[in-house]
Amino acid sequence: MKFSRLRGVKDVFGDETEIWEKISSAARKMFSLYGYSNIITPVIEDVNLFARGIGEGTDIVLKEMYDFKDKGDRHIVMRPEGTASVVRAYIENSLPPKSDLYYYGPMFRYERPQKGRFREFFQIGAESFGDPSPFKDAEVIKLAEGLLKEAGIQDRALVINNLGAKKDYRYNLVKFLEERKEHLCGDCLKKMERAPVRVLDCKNEKCKEAVKNAPLITDNLTPEAAAHYAEVKRLLTECGIKFTEDPKMVRGLDYYTGTVFEFTTSILGPQQNTILAGGRYDNLVAEFGGKSTPATGFAMGLERAAEVIKSQQTGAADEMSGAFIVYDSKHREMAFSILNMLREAGIKTLMDFEDRSFKSQFREADSKRVRHVIVIGDTEAQAKRLAVKDMKDGAQINIEINEAAAYLKAGK
Ligand code: ATP
Ligand code: MG
Repeated sequence: MKFSRLRGVKDVFGDETEIWEKISSAARKMFSLYGYSNIITPVIEDVNLFARGIGEGTDIVLKEMYDFKDKGDRHIVMRPEGTASVVRAYIENSLPPKSDLYYYGPMFRYERPQKGRFREFFQIGAESFGDPSPFKDAEVIKLAEGLLKEAGIQDRALVINNLGAKKDYRYNLVKFLEERKEHLCGDCLKKMERAPVRVLDCKNEKCKEAVKNAPLITDNLTPEAAAHYAEVKRLLTECGIKFTEDPKMVRGLDYYTGTVFEFTTSILGPQQNTILAGGRYDNLVAEFGGKSTPATGFAMGLERAAEVIKSQQTGAADEMSGAFIVYDSKHREMAFSILNMLREAGIKTLMDFEDRSFKSQFREADSKRVRHVIVIGDTEAQAKRLAVKDMKDGAQINIEINEAAAYLKAGK
C-alpha cells in the first residue's frame, strides 16, 4: 500500500531544511541578543482559547480551525497561532510580569493551499509582556527586522499602523459601510457586524474601491494612541528603520490594540506577501483572567521566509567541507577506526560500508562535496599512513595517521 501526505502539508528536506536551519539559527542568535527565552507550549489546546482570544469574527475562528473531539469528548483545536497559547502559559505558570519569550513550532489552519499558504506551517514568534512604552514597540520591530536581516532576507518592506481608535469611530465606519453595502463581498458583510475595521483590509478589488474614502483609523485615534504612534514612528526613524504607513492595514486577529506592523516581500504574490507580522495587544492578558498587562509581539512564517531566501540564491555551489574515506574493503576495520577518530576530533567525516570500487567511492565523495578524500589502499594500510587528496586543487599528500586530524582541521 502506498501513502501520500495530506493536502496542504509538506515534507521538508535537503536544501530546504538547510534554509530553515539558517533562519532558526538567525532567530536564536537575535533572541539571545535581546534577552528572550524560549517557551514551548502544546500543539493542542481547548477550543475556547482561540475562539475567545483571536476573536469570533476572524477568518481563523470562522473557517480555519483544525478542531476535533478527543476520546474524552473534549473539544480540542490544533493551535492556529502562537500568541493565545503563550498568553495562557504566561498566566497559568505565573511567569514574571516582565517576560520576553519566543517560540518555534507548527501551526494549523484549514485554508486553501497555494504557494506560501499551507494547512500546517511553522512560525517563529516573540511575545513581550509588561512594557507599555513606545520604546518597546520600536525595540520589537527592530528585533524583527534584525532577525530577517540576519537570516539573509533582503527583499523586505515594513508597513505600520495604529489601531487605537476613539469609541465613536466604529459607529461612523459602520454607517459609512452601510451606505455602500451593495458593493461589498459576502465576507465583508459578515465582518461589518463583528469587526468592521477588517472590511478596510479586504483584498477584493470591488471592496477596495468601495472603502476608498472610508474614515481612517489614524484620523480618529485617541490622544494617547496618537501620541504613542508618533513616538513609535520617531523611534523607528531614530533606529534607522525605513517604513511606510498604511492606515487601512488592520491585521487578521482581534486582539491587537495599538501599533500593528507587517514585513512584506515582493516575490510571493499579493495574497501571500506578508512574511512577518505583529503588534501590541494590551488587553489579552486581562481578558484571559490575568492581571492587566501590556504586551506586544510578532510571528514570522518560516515557509514564506524560506521562499524569499531561495529566490535570492544565485545558484552558486555550496562550500566543500569535511572528508570522505575511500578504502579497499580488506581495510574496512582500519577505515572505520579512522572515521571514528576524525569525528571525535570534530571533523565531518563520511564513508560507505558496502564493498565498492575506488571509482564509485570517489564518485560518491564528489557528490557529497567534501573537501578531502582520504585513501586507504594496501600501501597505506601496510605503512599505517594515509593518502589525502584535496578535492579543490587535486593535490595529494601522504601523512601519518596521527597527523590527519590537525591537517584536515587546517583546511589547506
Ligand atoms: P495572511 O493574511 O497571509 O493569511 P495572517 O494575517 O493570517 O496572514 P498571521 O496570523 O499574522 O497571518 O501569521 C503571521 C505569519 O504567519 C504570516 O505573516 C505568514 O508569514 C504566516 N502564515 C499565516 N498563515 C499561513 C499559512 N496558512 N501558511 C503559511 N504561512 C502562514
Ligand atoms: Mg490568514
